[in-house]
Amino acid sequence: METFYILARQNGNAIQYVEVTKTGGTKITTDPKSATQFKSEEAAEKQKKHAPKKLKNYKIIPQNPEFILEVENQDTDQKQAEEAGIVMEKRKSFSQNVRNKIYNDAEGHCAICGQFVPYDAFTVDHIIPLAKGGSNNAENLQCTCLFCNQLKGSLNDDEMIEKIVDILLMKAKNDKKFQKKLSKKLKKL
Ligand SMILES: [Zn+2]
Repeated sequence: METFYILARQNGNAIQYVEVTKTGGTKITTDPKSATQFKSEEAAEKQKKHAPKKLKNYKIIPQNPEFILEVENQDTDQKQAEEAGIVMEKRKSFSQNVRNKIYNDAEGHCAICGQFVPYDAFTVDHIIPLAKGGSNNAENLQCTCLFCNQLKGSLNDDEMIEKIVDILLMKAKNDKKFQKKLSKKLKKL
């Protein structure tokens, strides 16, 4: 499975992509299917240099940043699944269309922390992690920020939040300064 890169920018609500024409020219398109898939960051960078003014605000976006991230945990996930007697579905990278639908359905908000995530920073998260028997089907996918996705790892959303609360409470119990800081922040809410 290969990771590729695209050049894109967010322009208001629209996402604009770069399409390299047959003659090597640069075309701007809103159709994700037409976006050129670069094999490497260098190749995308090279294209930017061809039209530096036009592509100034375009970012090199790795497709499936979570994929790169999660592949690193593949062995641990596999082990966890085996121990639980789960046949783990193979991790796959999602097409531009699937990714776009997830992002648009969420209106760009992280399903876990609720924050708005710019298009170039969102990740596709498995609601039920693959290691827990979740699937790659659309119903099991959600838009998350990279931070939440990374933190969540192979936990469910609720398990993750519970873990964070536990950590905060433990820290507050042992650190009075932190306790004050935390309670101030809560009051602000
Ligand atoms: Zn988040």
